[in-house]
Amino acid sequence: MHVKGHYFPKASSNYQECVASISDTHIDIKHDEYIITRHAITELNLNSGMAGLADELSFTDGSRFIPLDVNYRWPFKSNNHQIMERLEKSKWAILAAVILTPLFMWLALYKAVPAIAVYSIDTLPHNVINQMGEQSFTVIKKLALDDSELPVEQQTKIQQHFNTMLEQLSLDKSIYRLSFYKSEHFGANAFALPHGRIVITDELVNLLVDQPNALKAVLLHEIGHIVHQHSVRITAQSAASTIVLAVIFGDLEGIAEVALGTGASFAQQGFSRDMEREADSFALTQLEYLGYSSNDFADAIETLQYSHTSENEHLKKVNNLLEYLSSHPSAQERIDNARE
Ligand SMILES: [Zn+2]
Repeated sequence: MHVKGHYFPKASSNYQECVASISDTHIDIKHDEYIITRHAITELNLNSGMAGLADELSFTDGSRFIPLDVNYRWPFKSNNHQIMERLEKSKWAILAAVILTPLFMWLALYKAVPAIAVYSIDTLPHNVINQMGEQSFTVIKKLALDDSELPVEQQTKIQQHFNTMLEQLSLDKSIYRLSFYKSEHFGANAFALPHGRIVITDELVNLLVDQPNALKAVLLHEIGHIVHQHSVRITAQSAASTIVLAVIFGDLEGIAEVALGTGASFAQQGFSRDMEREADSFALTQLEYLGYSSNDFADAIETLQYSHTSENEHLKKVNNLLEYLSSHPSAQERIDNARE
């Protein structure tokens, strides 16, 4: 049997047009009937085997022979080789690739990238987090916060409680800061910004006016969100995924927007239930450590819950409160957990 092709001597890209003639035991590479080289069939290596590519032969001395006909297949294929080719042609293999590729993309985008983002936040310089926090604080203030109408003495008293807790927990006062605002939008609520600012509404202070320890429990819960960097984590995750998407689809201009705009994304999304549980358990542990009772935390949740089932005149407050409670694990679950 004769096969026309190109013969490449060892480590050379200069080829010779040759004919390979195959016998039972040997293969001869000939040029004008002159035998250039002879190899035993048992010493051959088959290289390519890809559909649409020529079946390349390589010899033990490093030289190669490539048939001119790309569809030509040598009669002495190895098993391994056939499996490869069968896979190439298999509809199932193609189907699997079609399904697995998007799945892989999805995993990379929504699982791997956010996971990497979470690990990388520890290396974020504090001034980046600071900017992120101040930026979203400015936006939230504009949209939903008004100046506090609480008497100064009342504010000072709560600030003192807050500072005492920080001292006892060895937390940095220049990072953890408490601000009071009146907010029709948030109603009785408190939230923590990534860089350490905690906002508490007049409505919440008034609701818990007779339960100072319950108010401390709420503050500890918010401190827990900051200690565990929950908002930084959420922001980093959504920013990282958006940036990867922008790179994939070539929308590089969008990246600047993402980097600047996602600061407030945690405020829109809210924390995950796991994060809420983490903040709850921080609050419970620290209450105990500071000599208060985890019942204070349960009282806080109970009061919040009760206020939203009370009179109709507070309907507006109710709606806001429902919003507050909806992002948190079920109130009863949290009360039970604290009372345990
Ligand atoms: Zn929370």
